[in-house]
Amino acid sequence: MSLLEEVKWAGVIGAGGAGFPTHVKLEAKAEYILLNGAECEPLLRVDQQLMALYSDEIIRGFAAAGRQVGAQKALMGIKGKHREVIRQMRERIAALGQEEFVSVKELPDVYPAGDEQFLVHALTGRVVPEAGIPIQVGCVVVNSETALNIYHASQGKPVTEKYLTVTGDVPRRLTVKVPVGTPILDVLRLSGIEDFEEYAVIDGGPMMGPVLQNLNGFITKKNKGFVILKKKHPLIRKKTVKPEQAKRINRSSCEQCRMCTDLCPRYLLGHNMQPHKMMRSVAYSLENTEEQKMAFLCCQCNLCELFSCPAGLYPKAANLSIKQRLIEQKIRYQTEKTEFSPRTVREHRLIPSKRLIARLGLHDFDQPAPMTAIALHPAQFSFSMSQHVGAPCTPAVTVGQHVQAGEPVGQVPQSSLGAAVHASISGTVTECQSGAVVIKGD
Ligand code: SF4
Ligand code: SF4
Repeated sequence: MSLLEEVKWAGVIGAGGAGFPTHVKLEAKAEYILLNGAECEPLLRVDQQLMALYSDEIIRGFAAAGRQVGAQKALMGIKGKHREVIRQMRERIAALGQEEFVSVKELPDVYPAGDEQFLVHALTGRVVPEAGIPIQVGCVVVNSETALNIYHASQGKPVTEKYLTVTGDVPRRLTVKVPVGTPILDVLRLSGIEDFEEYAVIDGGPMMGPVLQNLNGFITKKNKGFVILKKKHPLIRKKTVKPEQAKRINRSSCEQCRMCTDLCPRYLLGHNMQPHKMMRSVAYSLENTEEQKMAFLCCQCNLCELFSCPAGLYPKAANLSIKQRLIEQKIRYQTEKTEFSPRTVREHRLIPSKRLIARLGLHDFDQPAPMTAIALHPAQFSFSMSQHVGAPCTPAVTVGQHVQAGEPVGQVPQSSLGAAVHASISGTVTECQSGAVVIKGD
């Protein structure tokens, strides 16, 4: 099998949270392949530990992906504060004889250093066009855990496990490897909390992750971590405001100071994203659709809502509601410009992670979450058929069938975008409906 076929068979997807099927990304031809090792979401500790624990595998997977896309250079982006990880990576790149092709570049400890467009600029000096993707400037980006999974795929191992940080206002903070399909509650209880009545759980990082409405779900290949906080924590209150309430507050309180725009990472890259103008549109019910099209340029990093706005308003929500309305009217953003360059003030306006963490009220929880070997033994596992961008998988098994760990349980429909799903344990299929395959372990 070629690497592309191996990656496709293994069901590798973007492990940074986006879930785009990796084999499709690697079909492109690019000048650079970039490793996203920024892990810029506060409190999450997955990628930095994987790069330390599995340096060789990540370098090999990354280099193989780079050769697949025909890259001339393979650049790893890791925050300069992870000195030991960088030192080790450089040593192993040399030991593996890859220094002609692979190198490490240091990233600043700012948010959102892991945004693909931020990363492309930090590593290559190029700016992805408005509403564009990295391949338009000759780059393909893969996350560290994705590179590890590409290596595993090249060794015939499908994606059946997920690395997750469990952290927040909890007695025990840790990072674990768990089988895909494990009940989320079993993972959350590793934090030392048994009763979640007083707690809310953020699915992913505190900036971009949504608050889980239901803790009875199952781990998918897209999960990256859980941040557990008391329901009364200001971040949870802010994240659980209903859209109607946000709209009402936005209408009455925006003073047009434009801090949301001045600190917006997409605006600073030279794009025309100006959230204060979206707030004005909402406040005065303006119908200037030409100007409102800029709502498509938002990457939903949440910096405007959770850091920039001095009045605690919801500019991202204003963007989203305008964008939704434009989509319904079949209106899209189109740029005439082809060249973009960052605004001259940009380097003075980047937000240090420490300041962001303090503003979020997470300073006390910004603690290590060491990789810990833990074996969970749930009675049953559930494998969602929609763990990726694209069409849901169709079940490849039937009720009563016995499957071995690593066997496919979901296959991509013919001619569709998607990623196969594999059993993470051996057992018997007990259900095969509602978009999921349920397996009772042996
Ligand atoms: S949303 Fe907040 S930051 Fe933006 S212009 Fe209004 S008051 Fe200023
Ligand atoms: S969420 Fe706010 S700060 Fe982030 S890109 Fe969108 S408008 Fe800019």
